[in-house]
Amino acid sequence: MALPQSFIEELKSRIELEDLISGYVKLKRQGGGYIGLCPFHSEKTPSFHVFPSDQHYYCFGCNSGGDAITFVRAIENLDYVDAVRFLADRAGMTVPEDRESRERAAQRADVLEMNTEAARWFHTQLRANPAAVRYLSGRGLTEKTILHFGLGYAPEGWDNLLKHLKSKGYTEPDIKRAGLAGVASSGRHYDYFRNRVMFPIIDVRGRVVGFGGRVMDDSQPKYLNSPDTPVFKKSLSLFSLQNAKGVKAGRLILAEGYLDVIALYQAGFPEAVATLGTALTGEQARLMARYTDEVVIAYDMDEAGRRATDRAGDLLTSAGLKVRVLRLEGAKDPDEFIKKQGAEKLRRKLDQTEGVVEYRLSQAANALDLSSDAGKVSYLQEAAAILSELRSPVEADVYAGRVAREIGVEKESLLSEAERIRRGRQKKGRQQALEQQQKMLRSGVPRINPERAQHLKASRAEEGILCLLFDHPDYYRDLAEVLTPDDFVTDFNRRILIAFAGAIEQGDKPDLSCLQDFTIEETGAVQGILLGRNRYSGTREELAELIETLLDLRRRSQLHRQPLEGEALRAYLAAMGKQK
Ligand SMILES: [Zn+2]
Repeated sequence: MALPQSFIEELKSRIELEDLISGYVKLKRQGGGYIGLCPFHSEKTPSFHVFPSDQHYYCFGCNSGGDAITFVRAIENLDYVDAVRFLADRAGMTVPEDRESRERAAQRADVLEMNTEAARWFHTQLRANPAAVRYLSGRGLTEKTILHFGLGYAPEGWDNLLKHLKSKGYTEPDIKRAGLAGVASSGRHYDYFRNRVMFPIIDVRGRVVGFGGRVMDDSQPKYLNSPDTPVFKKSLSLFSLQNAKGVKAGRLILAEGYLDVIALYQAGFPEAVATLGTALTGEQARLMARYTDEVVIAYDMDEAGRRATDRAGDLLTSAGLKVRVLRLEGAKDPDEFIKKQGAEKLRRKLDQTEGVVEYRLSQAANALDLSSDAGKVSYLQEAAAILSELRSPVEADVYAGRVAREIGVEKESLLSEAERIRRGRQKKGRQQALEQQQKMLRSGVPRINPERAQHLKASRAEEGILCLLFDHPDYYRDLAEVLTPDDFVTDFNRRILIAFAGAIEQGDKPDLSCLQDFTIEETGAVQGILLGRNRYSGTREELAELIETLLDLRRRSQLHRQPLEGEALRAYLAAMGKQK
């Protein structure tokens, strides 16, 4: 069964490859990626690389490689469709037109119904428990806000909700599946949430997918969230995104917890969201990028909050978002700031938040003693490193000017230092890419593509063409005018070209998912070829040259089949001489 490319793309965008793989392999950060001991062959030094930037992996020891789907196929020993089903389950998606997933869809519908029923019941319990209402109004929440968020209360005792849901016809295993019951070692089921105020977690489609529960005193754990269920994945959900998604503010505010988000909402900032008791994930960052271009991080002003801000800043920037950081004086979090200084003042602060560059510069400055020369030098070095990461020269110029004035140095010297750092990084990147390519050529691909050895020059040109086409599907029309798959010399590369062309003709970007009938080893070899992409500058001229090289080699080999004499023989011998 061929699955729609759009579904596969959506699925892959929801899976973070490094998270998936770290469930099987202990990964260590290295450069911009991760490295670990390969799960597919036995080794003592790691040669298994994960590249988060374009979500693929490759082992230089055994040449296995590919994307999330390839990984699951290989490690779980599943066929393509089952691997997709496995990942869809993890991402909370339904594989289209699939009987087994229809059953699971029915289970999901049941869980959603139970959640809705539980939310209603928790809300009724809140009305019956003055202490819980007092707790919420003590936090400054109005009746209207309590209603809007559908807040509730899970009473003390072990089976209040269980009894209620059973009276509605649900069994204990159903309730457990919905994450609303736990099971004791004795096998007895009990209410998962007890003596807590309850925050329903609602998805962008308005469905109750889970709950957060908070104690009203100092007992632990302070927050308890629904476990992952068929409809709920903590790492994929954001609290209050349903309120924030359509807001015209043009930004999302990332706050630390439920009560911050609710306080912000009540003060006129419906664009606030929060993660569910865990650190921000790349999946959540990409989810935000679907609804906005800009995120203001509004974490607590303590040491833990600062660390979380740094981490979230990196993730959000990698997701292509413009990141700003809210800094509050005289309050530990937005909730307290609103209570002390009012919503209007917060709005002004939000509109004037500093960008993540300013934030990082001031963090660097705060950590150093700028009155000493040594402190100034360290600060300039850190500033140059921060500036070296900026893509926009205008932006770099503005910040360089600011830092230069602050410290009293020439702006140009700071900019050239930043440029030096950037060049060094680029050179290192190019070297690494070249090394990877050389390693790749030593094994792997030649085994999968046995014709490669006889037609080294031609297959190199073919691989170049595939690399360029992968990054620039818009070149396909140029290519198709002068070259057909039959012009490819090696069978294996021809199959890849046909698969890429098929995807492009359907309006899709070529992707490993258009290789559904390739074996895992073959997909690994394709990944190996694509690793060479950084060797190309990506221009149309470069493509034209590669095509020319290939067609030229092809003409000569056809010539070869006829008896050679005179001019043709000389040309052939000359070509052979060049090839050596
Ligand atoms: Zn390996």
